[in-house]
Amino acid sequence: MDKIEHIGIAVKDLEKSNDVFASLFGEAHYKMEEVASEGVKTSFFKSGPNKIELLQATNPESPIAKFIAKKGEGIHHIAFAVSDIQSEIKRLKNEGFIVLNETPKKGADNKLVAFLHPKTTNGVLIELCQEIN
Ligand code: ZN
Repeated sequence: MDKIEHIGIAVKDLEKSNDVFASLFGEAHYKMEEVASEGVKTSFFKSGPNKIELLQATNPESPIAKFIAKKGEGIHHIAFAVSDIQSEIKRLKNEGFIVLNETPKKGADNKLVAFLHPKTTNGVLIELCQEIN
């Protein structure tokens, strides 16, 4: 894994949280994007070289709605940039991690993504993401 690509934060109200994080960083978000397949609306902020992704559920079946119902708002996942997501999935499976989707799917911000089950990563949902060229 190359580096932390972004940190994902689950929020109830994206518009409100956009204001909060714009005040925090002194700068507005640079992009908003809906990922219909995941039932989320996302918003991205930059803080120096780092990125923060805010995620709001767009339907009650969304993983974000379920997360908030269980744990409340807060850090939802940490995403790591990888250059070859297929080989990383294979490597991590061999290491005993549970990969939630072995076929990478299209995520926000022009990325192919896959997730590791928090059960095998000390309660932290890990996202692998590879830039789509
Ligand atoms: Zn993410």
